[in-house]
Amino acid sequence: MRPKRLERVLVTGGGGFIGSHLAKFLHDRGHFVRVADTHFNGYQDYPYYDERLGVDLRDWENCVAATKRMDLVYNLAANMGGIGFITEIGAEVMRDNGLINTYMLEACRQNRVGKYFFSSSACIYPDYRQKETKIEGLREPDAYPADPDTFYGWEKLAAEKMVEAYQRDFDLEVRIARYHNIYGPKGTYKGGRENSPAALCRKVAVASDHGVISIWGDGKQTRSYCYIDDAIRGTLALMESEYSEPMNIGSERLVSINDLANIIIKISGKRIVKEYDLSAPQGVRGRNADIDLARKVLGWEPRMSLEEGLTNTYNWISARCEADTISAPAVRQVGTN
Ligand code: NAD
Repeated sequence: MRPKRLERVLVTGGGGFIGSHLAKFLHDRGHFVRVADTHFNGYQDYPYYDERLGVDLRDWENCVAATKRMDLVYNLAANMGGIGFITEIGAEVMRDNGLINTYMLEACRQNRVGKYFFSSSACIYPDYRQKETKIEGLREPDAYPADPDTFYGWEKLAAEKMVEAYQRDFDLEVRIARYHNIYGPKGTYKGGRENSPAALCRKVAVASDHGVISIWGDGKQTRSYCYIDDAIRGTLALMESEYSEPMNIGSERLVSINDLANIIIKISGKRIVKEYDLSAPQGVRGRNADIDLARKVLGWEPRMSLEEGLTNTYNWISARCEADTISAPAVRQVGTN
């Protein structure tokens, strides 16, 4: 007999990277989990949810149906991708995410959802604080005066404000996480929406020994990376806390893209040469997280080292790339017969 479920939880974007890990964690904990998404990447082992809705959340009726009889809602659905994607695509990102975030909030209000979680981003922080490679971690109040470097960041910031307004005017209980570069297995690793750890793992995995990989920019740009299991722990701790303002969920270990690539190359055991594509998008020059607030309020900080997290990620992506090669249909070379 199946155990009685604790709370009824909706995870939007539950077919994607963070959403599917979160849904699995909540399902394993004994909650009734409904996932809603347009696509399911299929990387999680089933079962990781109780109910699956294949719906487009840019549609008002779908948001109403998805939030019906839910105690908690984690809204992670977004049209998003790594730096290449969010540098190139502006209007679609603002339109789609604006619709999803507006309809989801209003549907939660009308359906009297107990608590609403919004997945914001480090991309909301202003460009002028991220001009150097060696920078201080971004603190939550640093968001203002606002000047995000992408449309994606502007939309997230506007959505944060709408969440704040719903809390003030309608008493909707809310939580807001600003994720900083979450990485790990079972995320997008090809197709143009992958983030830098996944892209570098894939490039190294498909390169031969003594091969070459391309790095976007000069490789000196810096970031910090937070492993998926740590991000999920932080998300749940935030949701269970009394804290309703935006909070960073990320890591304070600043590395350059060169450092990141070198760690992955070492994990692979291959000898690889790095080449630099200076015309490729590279985003802000330096970005790090300050997680003092999360430490104080939640007692949370990441546990996984970058080396260990990247080993898990590399092994998963390498196996996927191998499976992709095996399952790819043989291509007949034109002109060779
Ligand atoms: P993801 O792309 O793997 O997941 C997002 C999911 O949303 C996808 O499965 C996608 O199909 C779904 N989606 C998109 N449009 C939809 C629509 N119209 N209706 C229903 N579903 C739709 O990305 P992720 O990394 O898991 O990110 C989850 C959330 O966290 C997003 O809101 C993202 O902006 C935010 N975030 C992620 C990171 C990160 O490093 N991964 C950093 C900052 C913020």
